[in-house]
Amino acid sequence: MSDIFNNQLFEAFASASDNVYIYVCDMKTDISRWSKASVEYFALDGEYIKNAAQVWAEHIHPDDLDVYTEDITNVFSGKKRTHDCQYRARNFMGEYVWVECKGSVIRDDEGTPIIFAGLMTRIDGQSKYDSLTGLLTTHELHHFDFSAQSGAALLVGIDGFRRVIGNYGYNTGDEILIEFSRKIKELCDKAWKVFRFSGDEFLIVAFETDKEEIAEFYGRVRQAADLIELKSGQKIGMSVSAGGVVFPDDADTREILINKLEHSLEYAKNNHRGTLVFFSDEIAKKHERALALREDLKQCIKNDFKGFELYFQPFVKPGTHIISGCECLLRWKGEKVQDSYPMEFIKVLEDYGGIREVGFWVMEQAIKQQVEWREKYGNLCVSFNVSYQQFMDDDFEERLDLYADKYGVKPEYMIIELTESCQVDNPQELSALFDRLRGRGFKVALDDFGTAYASLEMLKCLHVDYIKIEHSFVRELSEPGHDIDYVIIDNLLKMCESLGYDSIIEGVENRKVADIVGKMDATLLQGYYYSRPVCRDDFEKLLEHNCQVS
Ligand code: C2E
Ligand code: CA
Repeated sequence: MSDIFNNQLFEAFASASDNVYIYVCDMKTDISRWSKASVEYFALDGEYIKNAAQVWAEHIHPDDLDVYTEDITNVFSGKKRTHDCQYRARNFMGEYVWVECKGSVIRDDEGTPIIFAGLMTRIDGQSKYDSLTGLLTTHELHHFDFSAQSGAALLVGIDGFRRVIGNYGYNTGDEILIEFSRKIKELCDKAWKVFRFSGDEFLIVAFETDKEEIAEFYGRVRQAADLIELKSGQKIGMSVSAGGVVFPDDADTREILINKLEHSLEYAKNNHRGTLVFFSDEIAKKHERALALREDLKQCIKNDFKGFELYFQPFVKPGTHIISGCECLLRWKGEKVQDSYPMEFIKVLEDYGGIREVGFWVMEQAIKQQVEWREKYGNLCVSFNVSYQQFMDDDFEERLDLYADKYGVKPEYMIIELTESCQVDNPQELSALFDRLRGRGFKVALDDFGTAYASLEMLKCLHVDYIKIEHSFVRELSEPGHDIDYVIIDNLLKMCESLGYDSIIEGVENRKVADIVGKMDATLLQGYYYSRPVCRDDFEKLLEHNCQVS
């Protein structure tokens, strides 16, 4: 092996910096040696690489490949003395980071290139420590070999942190993160490592430990989050969820560890908020299904929304079966996945952003349908569901106006329902939007009112037309021991009346409940008792059978 590699200078330079990566290439054999730090950080196959130019090219961002190839070709052909360019290279986390790559060619007396040596510097400001919290950054994870050590890792995420920022502002948000990080570090064993994983997520790598000890530790972290005291003396309580992974049993590389931690935390947040969930086969299966759904959904969207359909569920006037409107509810049958419920596939759409296109499709179908039925049956109120994420889309209003104009709908017959109001982190912005929509004549409804803890708070900020009272108060209304549900509904209706809002009671499943709520003061009722959500043809049959639209 060439002595350019067995050089103490190489070793000395190679270990000199965390952020600088050294390489030297014997151009006769086309073998190069890379410093240990570069092998680890860029997940290279080893220190010695044959045909490095090509191997390295595979690490470069496709958009930057031309820049790199042109520069290196000029250096090797003698057109340029030094290699000097900037591009993005893929690191061990699979992320692209900006590097500055410099190198030069040494030639023999005949001018034949013999050595190419240089260094790469990370220039994206990725440092060892997080500037806000002082914790390690995840770039430092490459120092650990998870196959050679045993322990457990924990990914802790603050629940609804966007909302905390919405309520208290960015500065307080930062103060919370600093204080919470300090508390986590204090609770950790000295040998454990704490990283700032992302905005409000913290990674703890604990060595020589087991699930029990980690669960106990999580309990203390949860307690710490429950009472964060700010410099001003203000006390803020937060809930935290966590994902856990045991290494090396469940993960023997960083990539697998991080991947499984993220899935476990996501699972905890979605299914068992405020708890620690260790990675399991169930989580793996859920994740695989979500990926399959995502692919299928993307394909269907590309195929002009193939497999998507709107179902309709009537709104009736209390004490009658007169249909005065309906809610549009999305259904989907994929090419491969045929059995997905709205709650499941809508979540997948929201997670990867597909809800944007599908939401606009729903909006157009709902508007078109209202106009079609107006001509056939007279005016019906048609409602459709919109999540906070959809409302915040820059194009939302434009699309609404576009379809309203295109089909000539009367906006006062369209109700837009805000689902999951608990996700609203900027009520002021939403409130301004609602005012503009209402100014143009559209009706706005707060969906599932009463369950989300944010409901009442939302009511303080938003002006709406309808409140939809959540199923859970209604379904068991006729059962013994549910007097409290009656009191809650009765008072919610009184509140609607005082505020001048209309109300819709959802989840009326049977005759007994229909009789009870029929005597209450709601504007409209909805539920399986009147009809399940049905396809368009069946809804038209209902309308025809009913013969009355009011
Ligand atoms: P939601 O807006 O609360 O819709 C009402 C859900 O309750 C519907 O479930 C409906 O089938 C069901 N339901 C109606 N009557 C009864 C009843 O008497 N008893 C019981 N137990 N359930 C009843 P579905 O269709 O599965 O929809 C679930 C959720 O999916 C909806 O909840 C809504 O949040 C969301 N969703 C549906 N379509 C869309 C859409 O186009 N866009 C968005 N963003 N979300 C949608
Ligand atoms: Ca709804």
